[in-house]
Amino acid sequence: MTQFNNAMEIFKLLDKSNCRDCNEATCLAFAGAVFQGRKQLEQCTHLEPATIAAHSDSSSARTAAASDMEAALAQLQQQVGTVDLKAAADRLGGRFQDGTLILKIMGKDFRIDGQGNLASDIHIHTWITGPVLNYVINGAGVTPVGKWVPFRELNNGQQWQGLFGQQCEKPLKRIADTYPDLLEDMIHLFNGKKMARYEDADISLVLHPLPKVPVLFCYWKPEDGLASSMNLFFDASVEKNLNIESTYTLGVGLVRMFEKLALRHG
Ligand code: SF4
Repeated sequence: MTQFNNAMEIFKLLDKSNCRDCNEATCLAFAGAVFQGRKQLEQCTHLEPATIAAHSDSSSARTAAASDMEAALAQLQQQVGTVDLKAAADRLGGRFQDGTLILKIMGKDFRIDGQGNLASDIHIHTWITGPVLNYVINGAGVTPVGKWVPFRELNNGQQWQGLFGQQCEKPLKRIADTYPDLLEDMIHLFNGKKMARYEDADISLVLHPLPKVPVLFCYWKPEDGLASSMNLFFDASVEKNLNIESTYTLGVGLVRMFEKLALRHG
């Protein structure tokens, strides 16, 4: 079975007709859904059986994406075993206590042990685990410079921009459209900070999904026949602390968390 490293690898297999036979709005959205394990490759009606056979394991209940993610996480956990967690605490804006690295994630304590296990008082979504471990292993600990840039303007953001829009900004906009006060509630739930209107947004809110990786959420309400809009901005230093794939994954993980909250909220 093929091990997909990211959704772009799946997207490249598709015919990009956006025919919607798979009930996704675009082929890009379908690729993201397969990578997340929400769809099976064979649900694309345009793929040749040979392509599906080469990339799928229909006898398994688990999707390729889910097992890919598990394998990737196991590898990251092994790598954490080689990291000096005390030094990492100093570098990454965390603290070291009883052999454990403690990082504030969305205002909550997350404890990472020498085997790469994560523990917290709140539910830890799988999509958050990978970026956190990557941050511990590869983060340079660069202090944010205070300059906000959209995802597409990050050095390696262009390639991932389409998926980021589909899997992160678009669903987040839907949540904000449906539950307008949810974003404001995030401030209290996750120790967020309200900012002066950034680029004239109706809501500008900064959260820290990782200590040195702030994210600025901007939401423009619908007005005068114009649709609403949602954009996420990252500090210009972000790629020093988190690679682009982890930044994308972190964004999707946040959306998954917010979706759950929105359901409870509703
Ligand atoms: S069925 Fe296949 S070609 Fe059609 S939108 Fe879905 S992924 Fe794209």
